[in-house]
Amino acid sequence: MTTTVHGYPRIGPARELKRAAEAYWAGDIPAAELDAVGARLRRGVWTELRDAGIEEIPSNTFSYYDHVLDTAVLFGAVPERFRAAADGAEGREAELRTYFAMARGTEGVPPLEMTKWFDTNYHYLVPELGPDTRPHLAGGKPLSEYVQARGLGVETRPVLVGPLTFLLLAKAAPGAPEGWRPLDLLDDLLPAYAELLARLKAAGAGVVQLDEPVLATDEGGAETAALRRAYDVLGGAADRPELLVSTYFGAIGPDALEVLKASPVERIGLDLVAGPESVDDLVRVSGLGAKTLVAGVVDGRNVWRTDIPAVLARLTPLLGLAGRVVVGGSCSLLHVPLDLGAETGLDPLLRERLAFARQKLDEIVLIGRALTEGALPEGAGHAPGPVPAAFLDQRVRARLDALGEGRPRAGFEERVAAAGGGRPLPTTTIGSFPQTADVRRARADHRAGRIGTEEYERRMRAEIDRVIALQEDIGLDVLVHGEPERNDMVQYFAERLAGFTTTEHGWVQSYGTRCVRPPILYGDVARPEPITVGWTTYAQSRTDRPVKGMLTGPVTMLAWSFVRTDQPLGATARQVALALRDEIADLERAGIRHVQVDEAALRELLPLRRDRHAAYLEWAIGSFRLATSGTAAGTTVHTHMCYSEFGRIVGAIEALDADVTSVEAARSHMELVDDLAEAGYRRGIGPGVYDIHSPRVPSVEEIEAALRGALRAVDPARLWVNPDCGLKTRDYAQVEPALRNMVEAARRVRADLAG
Ligand code: GLN
Ligand code: ZN
Repeated sequence: MTTTVHGYPRIGPARELKRAAEAYWAGDIPAAELDAVGARLRRGVWTELRDAGIEEIPSNTFSYYDHVLDTAVLFGAVPERFRAAADGAEGREAELRTYFAMARGTEGVPPLEMTKWFDTNYHYLVPELGPDTRPHLAGGKPLSEYVQARGLGVETRPVLVGPLTFLLLAKAAPGAPEGWRPLDLLDDLLPAYAELLARLKAAGAGVVQLDEPVLATDEGGAETAALRRAYDVLGGAADRPELLVSTYFGAIGPDALEVLKASPVERIGLDLVAGPESVDDLVRVSGLGAKTLVAGVVDGRNVWRTDIPAVLARLTPLLGLAGRVVVGGSCSLLHVPLDLGAETGLDPLLRERLAFARQKLDEIVLIGRALTEGALPEGAGHAPGPVPAAFLDQRVRARLDALGEGRPRAGFEERVAAAGGGRPLPTTTIGSFPQTADVRRARADHRAGRIGTEEYERRMRAEIDRVIALQEDIGLDVLVHGEPERNDMVQYFAERLAGFTTTEHGWVQSYGTRCVRPPILYGDVARPEPITVGWTTYAQSRTDRPVKGMLTGPVTMLAWSFVRTDQPLGATARQVALALRDEIADLERAGIRHVQVDEAALRELLPLRRDRHAAYLEWAIGSFRLATSGTAAGTTVHTHMCYSEFGRIVGAIEALDADVTSVEAARSHMELVDDLAEAGYRRGIGPGVYDIHSPRVPSVEEIEAALRGALRAVDPARLWVNPDCGLKTRDYAQVEPALRNMVEAARRVRADLAG
């Protein structure tokens, strides 16, 4: 019995990679110094894994920005527009400049698109491939990292994104003919993989891992012909290491498993945490024969300690279904923080229930040992036991039982008509205003105790005054307080709700050098006191125009936290919803007539398999309605989502029963409005009229054109005018003219309607 992991956090214990990469971008350190930091971090990971007792150690899990980007560069998929980035540089410097240009763009050259890695909050860069792309082995990263490890005396298994996943995650480059798919490049790409495999073999690699998480999705699972082709070709190559094809984030499904079983690959990795049904699939294909099963049994996505006796009970019957079993994490440990040892402030009762990446290594090693020896060592690996009573709140449970579904709100047609005060094309924003250096400093000073609460609140009120005055001056209709007090839309609420805790060092890579510290939702959720009411009512006291109260919705609170696993997500979401329901009631009592419940992550948590969508949407929608259905008829409920591919969830958006939904649409040119109309969406809609992710100031004319386009499908009373997301990452030099142009565009369109 041996042990392994698919990957490990790569940013460094003190986020060294973030610091080094940012210093390199700023021109403060040369390429060689960045590379030295990279080499040190890799050595640190390999030694940590080896010292923990992990026997099969991966390499090439390190990345300067993103492993999908690495793969694109490795196989020469560098779009023409990035070539100029290397002008005037040579060698490594030129390589790095091109690489980071693809990740971050350069003056006038937009970067690759970035999107979520499956159903995680990690973002990858989307490769752009076209019929002219000539895949070839263009780099040596996996090889040089393998060689580095070998030089340190650590034998590793290089990890690559598999060809099917790489091609299915890529998008057709602009200009590719209609109907052309990146997957059409499969036969051109496979020789490049084969060449790499041969070189790795020549350098001494015994096994190479090819990650195919796309097999956990409906799209990937349906590509059995491509899967067969890929692994027949790679498996048939004369000169190659053993191949491990790893799937994760869900069950592989019997068809894909059958194909892999019949292929020449020697090892198959299954995620038995996110896809426990894979066990049934294994039985259905009558096991893997002589092949090795890499059994992902320790959760790579969550921070709870593994119930080791339960894992052993589940694993033991599998031993007969494969030639050999390797115990591992369910997916790369990239998605959890590095080391619980760094958290000194946690409640000991909670702490003993947690395992971060470093602790998960110990669990894997322990499970491996128990399987080899037939029993757990004395006193080790006991089950975590039930949730301590101190984490539970019987009052919350009783209230939720009594509430049931919550009554639906009455008369949405009248509500929708009333929402804009009867005015066509009402204007508003998504909530946050630019977080200036002053605002950030005030928050940091307050946290560090350098200023007292009174002074902090004075500064926040001054900021709110400024933001309100500016919005009045610009002429917006529904105002916001600007969210200056919030570090992050989830963490802010998590810090103020019982049942959540936050960590000091629990950083997880979100994209590139950006890391987040997801809160831990460990117990019953309750609201000890009002959270937003003070700031919102203060803002309202400064203006005669309506101010919108801003809240983060239950699904998003869960999506961006580590959530307890002892009860279904839906039950936890209801507890968050109840707290929000109370908050909204307090806002209404204080005279607030607009509330917005942001569900930025509604789409992200949508299960990878279609047959699970209905069950997910039921609890997701139910929790939103529970949060918002107590509102009076005169209150307008808004929601906001940060994406525009609504095809799959249009029905769900209608079912949320919000009066107004604002969404990202600037980049999809308002097509979404047609989709919504076609699907029979009848409520208020605020298709973002410009892209806040870009510093560019949109002109009145282009916003006007967008609005006129939207009016093809929506009547003016239901069309809201807003940017496509919060403004906190922009500065006022862009925001002010952009909002002025937006209000002017709405005014012109309104004047036409009246005339
Ligand atoms: N209200 C939040 C803001 O404006 C919404 C952020 C988001 O959707 N990501 O910042
Ligand atoms: Zn958004």
